[in-house]
Amino acid sequence: MLQRVKKKNLYQEIAGQLMKLITNGHFKPGQQMPGERELAARLGVNRTSLREALRVLEMMRIVEKRVGEGVYVRDISRESSLEALVFRFLAEDGLDRDSLRGAGEAIVIVESNIARLAAERAANGDLARLDELLDQMNAGIDDIKTFTALDYDFHMLIGQLAQSPVLFSVVSTMWIIMKRYAAALHCATERRLKCLEGHRRIAAAIMAADGDTACREMECHLNGAVVALITETYERRHAPAWNIPQNNDKE
Ligand SMILES: [Zn+2]
Repeated sequence: MLQRVKKKNLYQEIAGQLMKLITNGHFKPGQQMPGERELAARLGVNRTSLREALRVLEMMRIVEKRVGEGVYVRDISRESSLEALVFRFLAEDGLDRDSLRGAGEAIVIVESNIARLAAERAANGDLARLDELLDQMNAGIDDIKTFTALDYDFHMLIGQLAQSPVLFSVVSTMWIIMKRYAAALHCATERRLKCLEGHRRIAAAIMAADGDTACREMECHLNGAVVALITETYERRHAPAWNIPQNNDKE
């Protein structure tokens, strides 16, 4: 059943709810959505906000507007955008196992090649910040929040060093998801140490302008994290991994 949207006229809320209805099969691929008037009434929202929400979903290739016909649901397993994945993650506060696996696979492939480009393209002057980040991570090893923020900075810096704006936009979009999962992974001291060690190896390869090694080290670093994440989240049935811990490590 359609749930009435409680917050006032927020198109993001409406878009989130429509997306849920599409991902859970209430509206199926190829199906025509109800008319604007009917849908607005069923959701308890005004038509202007609904129209805005539909425009967002159209941009994310979740629905398509056919002139003179109406709005149709696309097959999101085949056609939706990376932004749609992120939006779903935010709306549902997590990803299902297959989506997480897919996101993990993509980030490993994209970032390992970004590391290769960074090794090939970074100029000497840019590299000081890499060293600085390693020192900061080492100093912040006991603080999960700080450590996670620095982990994110490290990956974004490599993205910038690669000097490939489109790849950078892909990876920074994916990190909206990965950042919250990384916080969960970093709860264990052992994982933070392993993460720092991986970063040291990646940084060394980039500083040595060794693209192959940078690529391999990044692949190894992220593969380890993704496998641990899927195991923690879906195989050991722990508390949801996207709960960002509030306190420092309790181990
Ligand atoms: Zn990392």
